[in-house]
Amino acid sequence: MDSEAVDILIAGGGPVGAALALALEGSGHSVVLAEARSADSHGARSANSGDARAIALSYASRLILERLHAWSGLPVTPIETIHISQRGGFGRTLIRAADCDLPALGYVVNYDDLQQSLLAAPCSARLLSGARLTGFDGRTATVHTQQGKLAFAPRLMVFADGARIADDPPVPPYSKDYRQTALVAWVKTAQAHQGRAWERFTPEGPLALLPHTTGYALVWTTGPDRGARLAALDTAAFLAELHAAFGERLGAFIEAGARSAFPLALRYRRAEIRPRSLAVGNAAQTLHPVAGQGFNLGLRDAWELARLARETGEPGSDSFIDGYRRARALDRRAGIQFTDSLVGLFSNSDALLRFGRGAGLLALDLLPLARRFVARRMIYGARALP
Ligand SMILES: Cc1cc2nc3c(=O)[nH]c(=O)nc-3n(C[C@H](O)[C@H](O)[C@H](O)COP(=O)(O)OP(=O)(O)OC[C@H]3O[C@@H](n4cnc5c(N)ncnc54)[C@H](O)[C@@H]3O)c2cc1C
Repeated sequence: MDSEAVDILIAGGGPVGAALALALEGSGHSVVLAEARSADSHGARSANSGDARAIALSYASRLILERLHAWSGLPVTPIETIHISQRGGFGRTLIRAADCDLPALGYVVNYDDLQQSLLAAPCSARLLSGARLTGFDGRTATVHTQQGKLAFAPRLMVFADGARIADDPPVPPYSKDYRQTALVAWVKTAQAHQGRAWERFTPEGPLALLPHTTGYALVWTTGPDRGARLAALDTAAFLAELHAAFGERLGAFIEAGARSAFPLALRYRRAEIRPRSLAVGNAAQTLHPVAGQGFNLGLRDAWELARLARETGEPGSDSFIDGYRRARALDRRAGIQFTDSLVGLFSNSDALLRFGRGAGLLALDLLPLARRFVARRMIYGARALP
C-alpha cells in the first residue's frame, strides 16, 4: 500500500493533540490529526468521550487557549481563591487571585467541553475521526478507520494518545503505581461556592472540590478498595461519607452526579524510542491529579512544539527533536517532581510529617511572597510564557 506524505501526523485528538493541531495553524506544514473516537452527530469535528472529569485550567492555559481561538464560548467557572488544609492537623492557607494580580487563579471546565471547543475551532488540519493509529515503524504510520486501513509517511509523528507509553513494549517507561483511585463527580453543597476551591489533604490522599457551575467538581483520592466501595454506594450514603471526610466547612452535601473512578500512576519516558517521533501531553507524562497540572503541562508541550515547528523548517529531524526535548525538559521535570513530592508529602499519617505540613501551610499563610511564588509556579509552570 502506498503511503501518503504529510509533514506532521498527530495520533490522538484529546485536548492536547487538538490544541497542537490548532497551534500549528500558519506554520506552513501539512497536518493530519487522527482521533480514535468517532465524531458524534453534532458535527465532523466533535468527538464526545462521555468523560465525567473536570479540568482546572491555569490562567496561563487560558492565555494559550485564547490565542488558539478556543476560549470564547467555553463554559468555565473561575477559581478566585484556593483553601488548602490537612485533616487531623493544624495549618491552613488561602491563596487569592489578588496575590498574583490576576482576575482568577484558574478556571474549571468539563473535559468534553474543552475537547470539543478545541476540535470545533477553525483549523486547516485534516481531522480523521474514528481513526486509530495501530503502528509506526519510524517511517510509516498505519491508521485503521471504519473505511479501511490508511498509511502515512510523516516527517514528524506526534503521539498525543494519552497513556500510550504504558503499552509501548520495547523500552518500558518509568512507572509508579500510587495505589490510589481518583473518584470524580459533580456535587452540590447547601452553601454556594463563591469561586472558592478546596484542597484538603487526608492520609488516604487529597480531596479537592473545584467550583463548577452551581456546585463543585469533586476529585476524591482514596485507596482503590475504598474508591470502589464509594463508587458503588447509593447517592445518600455517598453524600454522607463525603460530608464526613470533608468536614463541616461547607455544611451538608445535597446532590451528586454520576461518579467515575480513575486509577492513579506516574508514568513518563526519558527518551523517545522511535526516530522522527515525539510524545506530548499524557503520552509523554501522566501525573497524579493532585495539583491539577497534567493538561496544563501538556498544553505547554503543544505550544512549544508548534513554536519550534514554525521557526525551523525540518520537523522530525534529530536537531528538531533534540531542540524540543531540551526546551521542555525543565518544565516537564519540575511538573513531575512537584506533583510526585506533593503526593508523598501529604498522603500519609506520620506525626512528624503532619507537623511539618502544618508548619508549611502556616508559613505560606503568613508569607505573601511565598504564596505568590507557589501560585505563580502552579499557574505558569517552571517556565513563564514568553
Ligand atoms: C481525575 C483526574 C483529574 C484531572 N484534573 C486535572 C486538572 O484539574 N488539571 C489538569 O491540568 N489536568 C488534570 N488531569 C489530567 C488531564 O486529564 C490530562 O493531563 C489530559 O487529559 C491529557 O490530555 P491528552 O490529550 O494528552 O490525553 P487524553 O486526554 O488521554 O486524550 C488522548 C486522546 O487520544 C485518543 N487515542 C488513544 N489512542 C489512540 C490511537 N491509537 N490513535 C488515535 N487516537 C488515540 C483518545 O481517544 C483520546 O481522545 C486530571 C486527570 C484525572 C485522571
